[in-house]
Amino acid sequence: MQPTPAPGTAGLEAAITTDALVIGAGPVGLFQVFQLGLLNIQAHVVDALPFPGGQCTQLYGDKPIYDIPAIPVCTAAELAQQLHTQAAVFQPHYHWADCVQHITPQPDSRLQVQTRNGLNFLARTVFITAGAGAFVPRTLKLDGLAAFEGTQVFYQSAPDTPPSGAVLVIGGDVDAVQRAVDLARAGHTGITLSHRRDQFDAPAALLAEMRALVATGHLALCIGLPTELRIEAPSLSALGFARAQGGTQWVNATRVEAYLGVSPTLSPLTQWGIDLERKAVRIDTATGATSLPGVFAAGDVASYPGKKKLIVCGFHEACMAAYGAQAYLWPGQNFPLQYTSSSTHLLQLLGVGSPR
Ligand SMILES: Cc1cc2nc3c(=O)[nH]c(=O)nc-3n(C[C@H](O)[C@H](O)[C@H](O)COP(=O)(O)OP(=O)(O)OC[C@H]3O[C@@H](n4cnc5c(N)ncnc54)[C@H](O)[C@@H]3O)c2cc1C
Repeated sequence: MQPTPAPGTAGLEAAITTDALVIGAGPVGLFQVFQLGLLNIQAHVVDALPFPGGQCTQLYGDKPIYDIPAIPVCTAAELAQQLHTQAAVFQPHYHWADCVQHITPQPDSRLQVQTRNGLNFLARTVFITAGAGAFVPRTLKLDGLAAFEGTQVFYQSAPDTPPSGAVLVIGGDVDAVQRAVDLARAGHTGITLSHRRDQFDAPAALLAEMRALVATGHLALCIGLPTELRIEAPSLSALGFARAQGGTQWVNATRVEAYLGVSPTLSPLTQWGIDLERKAVRIDTATGATSLPGVFAAGDVASYPGKKKLIVCGFHEACMAAYGAQAYLWPGQNFPLQYTSSSTHLLQLLGVGSPR
């Protein structure tokens, strides 16, 4: 993980300039991109997750949804996929697995937006569609372990380079079990799978393969929670697990890969100098505008009297925010409302020819 430069200090000449920056590619952020596209405003999009859909994909992808207009039923993952496809016509630039950390207003009224991975944008408008917050990996709470993050300790993903020593895979779901099995199957030695209890949430065939690898000594199993670490300076060399009968079981680890799931955090948002109420962004419902000029919000993160955290409400808010941004970007200009069913201009933007 790279450090984020302090706000306002990153080189502005290296900035990506854009008319709109959308923070969050959940269902509302994806529809925000589409609504902006209809108004000829192209967007860059940043999301902490490595894929589109926000809560729909991360939390309940397989579940059916019944309250999307004109779609009697679809799964949450299908909805996210369709929204992603619908927005694609406007060729948004996506920046996955990155997190917006700072928004700093500039003297020329643009907004400097900086991310954890070092991206630096100069945006004329910003759309906060951050939902319940940035989905970030849950981490192991062990004193001193954070110093090895990105070099020997990894969360929710494996580094591209193959392991050269002992690997400790931590977690109880399919990602952890699959990773441990893959490493053992590929012939790597010194692989240990660890979980707090001897119950794993993975398909039966995968579990059977994991147990067989354990039985034949190709994979070690360690049940318990890590409580301490051993450092052979300058490297991490092992994690210690408290034994039920007392004492510590040490597991060698030149690399730790932990798959503990993700959880949402709104903490970056609280630093942006925007009026909040109960951890949500207060908006003007007529325009989607927040208290910071040029910054708009929609979806679960938006707050106003009577707000409902429903996808359909977020879609409406995204539409209003797009029109709010159009009026902000081109003040005093009159833009007649156009229909996608009949406007030659919109059909050209959508790349679907003339009205029938
Ligand atoms: C189990 C469950 C079932 C549900 N069922 C329904 C239903 O049937 N019908 C319905 O209408 N609603 C349902 N909902 C609610 C619905 O999922 C939410 O209203 C919807 O996901 C909100 O969309 P959003 O785009 O505003 O936010 P989210 O879906 O939360 O997406 C926000 C995205 O922003 C990203 N993000 C946040 N901050 C940052 C940052 N600083 N930098 C980078 N990225 C960031 C996050 O990683 C995330 O991907 C359900 C919710 C749950 C949990």
